[in-house]
Amino acid sequence: MVVFTEKDKLTPFIQNLKNQDKTIGFLPTMGALHDGHLSLAKSSIAQNDYTIVSIFVNPTQFNNPEDLEKYPRTEEDDIQLLTSIGVDFVYLPQVSDLYNENEGAKTYDFGTIDKVMEGEFRPGHFDGVATVVAKLFRAVNPTRAYFGEKDFQQVRIIQEMVKQEQIEVEIMPMPIHRAENGLALSSRNMRLSTDQLDAAPFIYQILKEGVGLKELGKTPQEVIEFVKESFKNSNFELEYFTITDEENLLPIENFKNDVPSRGFIVAYAGDIRLIDNIQF
Ligand code: AMP
Repeated sequence: MVVFTEKDKLTPFIQNLKNQDKTIGFLPTMGALHDGHLSLAKSSIAQNDYTIVSIFVNPTQFNNPEDLEKYPRTEEDDIQLLTSIGVDFVYLPQVSDLYNENEGAKTYDFGTIDKVMEGEFRPGHFDGVATVVAKLFRAVNPTRAYFGEKDFQQVRIIQEMVKQEQIEVEIMPMPIHRAENGLALSSRNMRLSTDQLDAAPFIYQILKEGVGLKELGKTPQEVIEFVKESFKNSNFELEYFTITDEENLLPIENFKNDVPSRGFIVAYAGDIRLIDNIQF
């Protein structure tokens, strides 16, 4: 395992491997790694000659400074985990390696897909994500890049960003990795109390029940009402639940077999924001 902290050293190093016709799989992360990240890294290892993981808590995607400050940082453990599964390289930059002084996020126009859900509740978030991932792609120049469908809207944003920025990379969306009880793995889960952790599988449980209602012939609106009602007497505060077309991320009025759709949820356990989604 080699750890790079400067893109000026990393970029030519990776280019040298690509000149030898090696494929490079890349997984951008914000650290505090768990089995969800590792499942993505393992896919990359299986599908590429070399795998590189970046660990960078990107300031420009946090609209809430407290959230940025509280974001868990566990770099030593992260590097140990990545070494144990056979990741080849880690890129661990300081903010100054990616951003000029006082540089903020670039402003993108993604049409509908950055206006809804996370875009609506976290203003500026996706400009920050697209900005940093474009910078990371230019620093690494990977063959393939791996993203989790846990952040499905992010996957759609990245697909659009690479088109607009004309970056040549294959985007590889990967399924959500869950704990045995169904809870979507997340770096934020380590902030949950034991009671909150015990209760958290409720979120996925309700999503699955929602899918069951669809199969019984209920409309998207009826499923949404069921989910909202279910959260009223729960330990969680529902921020949003919506069912959208997977392509444009706009709400659907009816389920259609030829239009892939997905239900997206955000719920708070105390001050911890949990996100999940399910295919409908
Ligand atoms: P993060 O460090 O939270 O920015 O996540 C880095 C990447 O790992 C993103 O593409 C996430 O979607 C993905 N990821 C995080 N948690 C999971 C999970 N439970 N299952 C699948 N992918 C995940």
